[in-house]
Parts: sequence; structure tokens; C-alpha cells
Amino acid sequence: MAVQHDVVWQNFAVTSSDRAKLLRQAPFVLWFTGLSGAGKTTLANLVAKRLHDLRYHAYVLDGDNLRQGLNRDLGFTVADRQENVRRMAEVASLIHDSGLIALAACISPFATEREFARSLLPPGRFVEVFVDAPLELCEQRDNKGLYRRARAGEIADFTGIDSPFERPANPELVMDTGRLTPAECTDAIMEYLVEKDLVVADWTRTRQ
Ligand code: ADP
Repeated sequence: MAVQHDVVWQNFAVTSSDRAKLLRQAPFVLWFTGLSGAGKTTLANLVAKRLHDLRYHAYVLDGDNLRQGLNRDLGFTVADRQENVRRMAEVASLIHDSGLIALAACISPFATEREFARSLLPPGRFVEVFVDAPLELCEQRDNKGLYRRARAGEIADFTGIDSPFERPANPELVMDTGRLTPAECTDAIMEYLVEKDLVVADWTRTRQ
């Protein structure tokens, strides 16, 4: 719940676009949403590596990692999940403001919080990637053993089992990780970024 404070927004001499210019990039937020095991972290990692190799400055915000620090006071009730995503959205926005590209990988099961994350960014600077894999496939992968534990009743409120996932209505990209390889998904995401002029496929960037 928002609390009323008598605080005034401060503006600083060095602006977001000054920082971005120094870094020679147009910052944006790439927001990966999908079920546990769908491939969000894998793709964020691969895209971050591609961007790094092209000399772009990017930072990965991983939902599981944030839950070990900033969000360690939060559980998996609906209210806590909403707060978890709200904080992730605010941090992604700060990273964007710093001039960096933010890659956010978190389940973000509810449309309202994803839309909130979008609302913090200028138009065209929020790219929602729906990492779409069928529940059966995620459960079969079960790379963290969480589905097995959820089915055994050891974990409650598990997304896809006993907690809902609202499929994005209008994501910029849908990656069907059941049909495509991680490399194919990475190529498709990079192609989209180039097409939208967020990334320039320019060999001079990689010149030492
Ligand atoms: P999440 O972050 O969504 O919980 P992870 O990235 O941790 O998911 O795990 C996804 C698993 O699916 C990994 O073991 C990965 O190798 C596998 N996988 C298979 N195909 C793909 C693909 N096209 N994209 C991403 N991951 C894939």
C-alpha cells in the first residue's frame, strides 16, 4: 500500500540520456515472463552474452537471485508475488535510467504487474518476451526439482500447479521453447532488437 510522504522529486545535472550517450546505447528493458522452467534465465543469459559481445552494457535481474537479497522478505502468496514483481519493475526502471539495458527474468504471473513494469518505461523501451512452454514440458524438464516437490505437496502456491499464470495478451515476442532451441530463440530476440533499432548490428561496435 502506498504511503503519503512529503517528498519532492529531485532532478540531477547528468540525465539518463547523458549516461546512455556516454555508453553509446539506447537503454531498454527486456522482460522475460513464463512458467518456472520455461527458459527465462537461460535466454536472459544468452542474450546478455550476445549484447556484451557487441559491447552493449546490460545487466541481468534474475527473480530467483533477487529473492535471496532485496526480496528475501517475500513469499509466494498473491500479495507477495505482486510486491516481488513491483520491486523487480522498479529496479529494472532504475537500471534503465542509469543507461544500462536491463534483462529481467521472473515468472511475473499477473498481467497487472507486468503492465505496471511497462508503464515505468518510455514507449518502445519495454520489450515483453513471453517464454512460452507447455506446463507438461516444464514439468518434464523440472530442472530445479520444484514441480516434483509441488506435486508432492511440499511447496504450496506453485505457478501452474496451484497458483495461476496469466498468459500475456500482447507481448512483443513469444518464444516457444518447446519447438525452438535456445540459440534459435536468442537469434530471434536479437533480430527483433535490431529491427526496432534498439541494437545496431554494427561491426564498428566490436572494434577494440
Ligand atoms: P526459468 O528461468 O524459466 O525457470 P530455466 O532457464 O532455468 O527456466 O530452465 C529452462 C530449461 O529449459 C533449461 O534446462 C534449458 O536448457 C531448457 N531449454 C530447452 N530449450 C530451450 C529454449 N529454447 N530456450 C530456453 N531454455 C530451453
